[in-house]
Amino acid sequence: MKEKYQKFVSVVVVGGGQAGLSASYYLGKSDIDHVVLERSERFHAWKNDRWDSFCLVTPNWQCRLPDWEYKGKEPHGFMPKDEIIDYLEGFAESFDPPLHEGVQVIRVDQRPDGKVEVESPDCIWIASAVIMATGSYDRQIKPTFAEKLDPSITQISSKDYKRPSDIPKGMCMVVGTGQSGVQMMEDLWLAGRKVCLSVGTAPRSPRIYRGRDATDWLHEIGEYAVPIDQQPNPEATEAKTNHYLSGRDGGHEIDLRDYASKGLQLYGTVDDINGFDIHFSQNLEENLDKADESYLRICGMIDDYIDRMKISAPLEPKFEKKWHPPKETNHVNAMESGITSILWCTGFVADYSWLKVDCLGPRGRPRHKRGIGEAEGIYFLGLNWLHTWGSGRFLSVAEDAEHVVEDIKKSLTGAPC
Ligand SMILES: Cc1cc2nc3c(=O)[nH]c(=O)nc-3n(C[C@H](O)[C@H](O)[C@H](O)COP(=O)(O)OP(=O)(O)OC[C@H]3O[C@@H](n4cnc5c(N)ncnc54)[C@H](O)[C@@H]3O)c2cc1C
Repeated sequence: MKEKYQKFVSVVVVGGGQAGLSASYYLGKSDIDHVVLERSERFHAWKNDRWDSFCLVTPNWQCRLPDWEYKGKEPHGFMPKDEIIDYLEGFAESFDPPLHEGVQVIRVDQRPDGKVEVESPDCIWIASAVIMATGSYDRQIKPTFAEKLDPSITQISSKDYKRPSDIPKGMCMVVGTGQSGVQMMEDLWLAGRKVCLSVGTAPRSPRIYRGRDATDWLHEIGEYAVPIDQQPNPEATEAKTNHYLSGRDGGHEIDLRDYASKGLQLYGTVDDINGFDIHFSQNLEENLDKADESYLRICGMIDDYIDRMKISAPLEPKFEKKWHPPKETNHVNAMESGITSILWCTGFVADYSWLKVDCLGPRGRPRHKRGIGEAEGIYFLGLNWLHTWGSGRFLSVAEDAEHVVEDIKKSLTGAPC
């Protein structure tokens, strides 16, 4: 077997997305020698894992990469995919990170001398610290019963969906109502395709409320700055699916009851499959109610803030449920219903199968405090709720990266952390 060559560096960053390159920016600013190892190309996920009509769900002003805030003409708009990539490329070009593309990390481990080893197929990097910035959305989750679906029905995972023409003729059942599921359903619906939706437990959010984007209000209220350990139930907060709404065509909220009243067939969550038979839990009304509750909770927070601060803001019409399921369906036969494909939008998990250090807790989540791992020399960045709501997004990844690099700097110089 070919002996791998060894290289020495102070810090290795794994992952060349916005989190990895934010870390690189601050490491460079502190003159800390480092490398960024990216198994594909920089910003791979934004370039390859999103669909053609993708637009940000968060407003452009929330794009706040290190010293690279959004400077375009539409701070309250929602960049489409190409503009997001231009924004990211501009950031990378602004400081020229020491990025090694096409280098997959296959093992990270600690050494007896307190250093860490980061192994790629050709090389072993020996470093004082490693920052895992491999994202929260690496491995797609699909229920095991999907294997029992009749092979004549096409199965597509949300990472592979790019455009309506990827879907075979006939009815497509979209499963899941996180951001991907609801927006992909809308993409198919707007293209005039036959689509139906299995509704999960994801919450939803208003878009424009009392005259402003709900995210603007929530930012002003301070919601995005509340750290995870100050949330009433940190574990539940961390496990929550993102609220669904859209940035497409200038941005709008998505009320599935509205779609149902226009003819979209809704079902409860899929709980089993046998050949052509698709079985559902009878929880459609319950799941729609839960999504409305989260919507109304956000509206309530904004109303309270407006009252408290005595802000003059337009009133909204009283909320009404536009549609109720006539009766819950517990089963459909795909062949009889003309269903020819299933688009799985059932979520993602981070993949740390290559991380050999004992630093993961329940549900495979890293044990850390704002990205500083419990194990020596081990750091994380870019995870959802690493510190606040914005940690896994454009909004706050820079602040977290600066915090993590500050800790590394202290440990390298021997200053008390
Ligand atoms: C559908 C969807 C919509 C989103 N919409 C928004 C939005 O509107 N606004 C917002 O702010 N955020 C949004 N996000 C969240 C977030 O901004 C993105 O997920 C973003 O890509 C996270 O950046 P990251 O650098 O943390 O991770 P990633 O972009 O996933 O980058 C991680 C990188 O690590 C690399 N990697 C993984 N494993 C290895 C390995 N073993 N060795 C080497 N390299 C490795 C990958 O190739 C990848 O390039 C969205 C996410 C999704 C999935």
